[in-house]
Amino acid sequence: LRIVGSLDEALEDLGSAAELWVTSANAAGECLAHEDARARLRLDGEPILIAFGTGWGLADAVMQRADRVLAPITSPRPDGFNHLSVRAAAAITFDRLLGVH
Ligand code: SAM
Repeated sequence: LRIVGSLDEALEDLGSAAELWVTSANAAGECLAHEDARARLRLDGEPILIAFGTGWGLADAVMQRADRVLAPITSPRPDGFNHLSVRAAAAITFDRLLGVH
């Protein structure tokens, strides 16, 4: 674990070609399915930084600059909305993207 001062600093440390992927309970539009993200992560390629927000989610400016928006983790509700704590969202995301299935 290493704490950095900003998102830009974290991306710079990963190299200029690093990709930024973001997460949100409200993600809409063109999203990257977990299955496709998992396949992408299995390939050699540029580093990927996956960003999670805090109480109010990621700032719009961060969402807009992202290379990809991960599909939200949905619930069985008719609208699929699933407002998770960041620790729950991170655990589910890492399991779907990197876990043994
Ligand atoms: N309104 C915010 C939103 O829509 O993302 C809620 C913030 S939530 C308390 C904190 C973080 O957990 C979010 O910024 C996101 O990174 C992650 N998160 C929460 N629910 C999620 C979901 N259903 N799918 C993906 N990520 C989620």
